[in-house]
Amino acid sequence: MSRRREDLNLQEAAHCADEVVTRFGLATLPIDPHSLAEANDIAVVPAALEGCSGCLMKQGDTFGILYSDTLKNDGFERFTVSHELGHFFLPGHPEFLFSDGATTHQSSSGFVSKDPHERQADHFAASLLMPERLFVAAARAERAHSFEKIDKLAKLCRTSITAAALRYAKFADDPVVVIMSRGQTVEWWEMSAPVFDLPNLTWINRGSSLPRGSATALFNRTAANIAAGNREEATSISLQLARRRARRRDERGRGRAWQLRPHAHGALHRRSSRRGRGRR
Ligand SMILES: [Zn+2]
Repeated sequence: MSRRREDLNLQEAAHCADEVVTRFGLATLPIDPHSLAEANDIAVVPAALEGCSGCLMKQGDTFGILYSDTLKNDGFERFTVSHELGHFFLPGHPEFLFSDGATTHQSSSGFVSKDPHERQADHFAASLLMPERLFVAAARAERAHSFEKIDKLAKLCRTSITAAALRYAKFADDPVVVIMSRGQTVEWWEMSAPVFDLPNLTWINRGSSLPRGSATALFNRTAANIAAGNREEATSISLQLARRRARRRDERGRGRAWQLRPHAHGALHRRSSRRGRGRR
């Protein structure tokens, strides 16, 4: 699938979630996906599922949702239920998932799947739990960027920190980069739109090594930091400096977007989160 086609599909998922938010009058955070399911006569039941995060089931015209509660992670469970609701609401999903007499769809929610239907349902879930208008208003209540702010938004929306960080980068008015790394390797990144306007930057590739000596690289080098879910907020270099450095390096043909260090790091490595392991 072309990148443009995929972007359109994800926009369609976001629009569908916005329409559901409006239609059901979901005007305050946190959004309750269980109530939304109930309003649509969909039974939602926790289960010790293996190999999937949740299921959408269909018998005749009746739908039901199972979600995995083995992680005991509120944000993950709410995201999973919202993902299944995405399959219910998104045009064409029920027809596709329950074709040929199938009665159960097993999901891998949380941005871990590359399947177009799964990605659409993930984007529906993010847009449902963090509606743009409500999320942006909450994010703009404080001007400064900080890990604490992401943490507050995650608590307000009852989502994982990863999901809140991705949404934050999507709507930030300033250049913001969220980078997920494991060990010394970048797994994925997300940038706010203003980053694209910065001159002399090249893009980070999945699988790249973290810049040697960076705060995140040093943090990740201590395994206990990850195991204990430690957090550390490092002072970033200024964008002005970053741009100058990038330009200087570019002159030598080695410019890298790496000059934009994340403001907060280490925070996305918590063991309890299974989210965000693929680039959205
Ligand atoms: Zn799914």
